[in-house]
This record gives sequence, structure tokens and C-alpha cells, in this order.
Amino acid sequence: MKLRTCARCLYDEAHPLHLTIDDDGVCSGCRVHEEKDILDWGDRFEQLRRLTDDYRSHGGRTFDCIVPVCGARDSYFIVDVVKNSLGLNPLLISYNKHYNTDLGIRNLANLRMAFDCDLVQNTTSPATAKAVTRASLDTMGSVYWHILAGQTAFPVQIAVRMGIPLVIWGAHQGIDQVGMFSHLDAVEMNRRYRKEHDLMGFEAEDLAARYPRLNDFNLDAYVYPSDSDIASIGVRGIYLNNYLRWDSKAQHEAMIDRYDYETGEQQRTFDRYNDIDCFHYAGTHDAIKFRKHGYGKAIDHACREIRLGRLTREDAEVLAGQYRSVQPADLPLLLDWLKIDEAAFWTVVDKHRNPKAWRMEDRFSPVERAQPAPALIQAARLPIKDKCEFALTRSKAPHLSDDRYVLVGKGYVDPQLAEVGG
Ligand SMILES: [Zn+2]
Repeated sequence: MKLRTCARCLYDEAHPLHLTIDDDGVCSGCRVHEEKDILDWGDRFEQLRRLTDDYRSHGGRTFDCIVPVCGARDSYFIVDVVKNSLGLNPLLISYNKHYNTDLGIRNLANLRMAFDCDLVQNTTSPATAKAVTRASLDTMGSVYWHILAGQTAFPVQIAVRMGIPLVIWGAHQGIDQVGMFSHLDAVEMNRRYRKEHDLMGFEAEDLAARYPRLNDFNLDAYVYPSDSDIASIGVRGIYLNNYLRWDSKAQHEAMIDRYDYETGEQQRTFDRYNDIDCFHYAGTHDAIKFRKHGYGKAIDHACREIRLGRLTREDAEVLAGQYRSVQPADLPLLLDWLKIDEAAFWTVVDKHRNPKAWRMEDRFSPVERAQPAPALIQAARLPIKDKCEFALTRSKAPHLSDDRYVLVGKGYVDPQLAEVGG
């Protein structure tokens, strides 16, 4: 049996978040994406305003909501919407991913300055992050689990601890990639989706049960609060992409213009905006994604750009193909950190290949993909509305112009921004 591929985007049926393909050869992700050009987004934003108004604290001195942030991935946009469009006072929460690029640290520092917000950051001990990563590599073939677990647990922990019930996230990946839900369902964050999809089926407690050595470390940062704690505060997590027309590329470009968001090249994708704060994400982490699921981030980004009318299916295939076999330059650093040799590393990852994408019995040869009929591709084609070009901003690395930047929270920001609020 060959895998069917969408006639509009490049996803196939082996997608780990699961998608379906309809009689016209178009996948559920593309179908739900069509809502972006149909829904009345003005009306949906008013719904968001009414929803968030209920959480506005009166007096203006306390926090109205929690916004999880990092040094990339729409963080500026989300804070801009929450603070400037909705007029809320957010407490920013960040899980330190340990794999920070200088650029990501600068972007996070600049975010605090540009929006003049309080930020709470959790940095787990390096030994804990390493022990957890060794266990997650073995259990799931993932070196990113600690980040996925930490960044989805810590904001909810703070919500419970500080009694701030509303958490505002950016895009729900299941909606944006595979159309798991309609935007109209307005799905909210929940424990089950987090465990099944974000955490690949393993909570911190499950990992510790398999690796008793982990009990020597403090795993609090990865533990989602109990249902009773969540219920007692009334914590809920909403996704902005259910209420405004999500276009990550356009959103980042607005943030470059308005707040000096810094962009950068990535190893295994043409996108210069998302996840540039991490030196493993578009490197080894993405090479692992390819090894497990048969495709990488460049395909995700290409599908997104097809759906938003900036790439033809044909151009997207060529563009994504250029990154397919790029060897991650960050791998030696990761191997050295984990004290594992390269052959052993890939042997562990190979245990976690997706059997829908790879023939396990045949030296991991790819399961064949059936190309959609040309007539279906033609019928599914969207008009091209814009160019798929990603801006490369001037680097703010301090060695380039030491006199122009100051050190704030281990990141260098423009001194004029540092003077905001005296
Ligand atoms: Zn599709």
C-alpha cells in the first residue's frame, strides 16, 4: 500500500498528528486552513475581547493573564496582541530551553524591554535537563521532550501558584498543520492533548517510572498541575489562532518592522523566523524528525506557505528538498553533552522510526508515496498572492558594534530601549 499525499500541500498520511484525505485528494489540514479565508475574523476577535474582558483585573496593578514566551516563535506577536490590542497586563513566562542561541537570548531580552513586561523564567539545573534528555532519547527518540514538557507545564504551574486563571497561547499545532479541529471549535489547552501529542505519550511521572534514576532529580518543572488545583483556580488556556487569522510569516514581519525582532538563517529550513532561538531545533532535532517520520520542518514550512498562497506545490517541493539531507552542524555538541557516540545515537533514534513512514524490515527504506493525479493537483491549486521571501535582519551580535548595545538579562539590547520607563 502506497501512502497517499495531499493534492494541495505536501503532507501524506504518515503525518504523526494524523490527517485524512478527502475525495478531491485534499487533506484535512488544507480544508480547515480554508476557514482562514472564510471566517469573519473581526467577529472572532470581538469574541476574544469579550472572553478576555472577564479576566481583566480592576485597578491595573495585578496581572490579567499569563503569556508563555521564548526568543522566537510568534512571542512578540502574541504579547503585542495581548498587551496592545486587548489592553491586558500579561505576566510573561519562559522555560529556559538550555539550547539557546545568542540571537534567541537577545530576542527575549528585547521582548521584555520593547513591551515593558514582567518575566518569570524557569531554568532547570543542567544535570536535570541532561538526565531527562537521556531518558527521553531512549524512550521516545527525542532530545526535545524536556523543552516541550517544561514550556507546557511551567506557565500552568505559575497560573495555579499565583491565581491567574487565563493562559494565552499562540497557535494550536493540531489545527494549523492537520486540521484536527475547526477554528470554530475554539479548543483549549488540556492535559490529554499535551500528553498524547506534545509529549509523545509520556508525562514526567511515566518517564520516572521507567527510569528510577530520574527520581534523584527534581522533575517539578515538567509536572502538569493536578486537576483539582487547576479547577480550584479555574485555569484555562486559549489559543489565539482560533480568534485571529494566523499567518506566522506576516506576523513576524510586522514585529521586525515595529519591535526590531531579529531573524536568522536556520540549518534545515528556509524559514528565518520560527525557532531561531534554539541551536538544535532546525538542526539535530529536525534530522531526528526526518529519521522518525520521513519529513522535516522544511516540509511543514512549505505546506504552510502553499496554504497561504505564497508557494506553488511544485516550487515548495523543490525548496523543501534542498534541506532534506543537510547534516546538522550542532550534532557533535549534543553528542558531547550527552556523552554518546554518533552511531549509538542514531541506533537509539532508529528504534523510534514511524512504521507508517518507513519499512522497518527492509533497512528502513521509505514507504512509497503515491503522487496525486495531475487533474486533482490542478483542481486543488490556490492562487499565488505573495512572494515567499524571508527577511534577514541585521545581526545585533554585540561584537559587530559593541558601543550600540547594553547587556540586560544576559542579552544585548539597544540602550535606547533599555531606558524605557527610566
Ligand atoms: Zn494538504
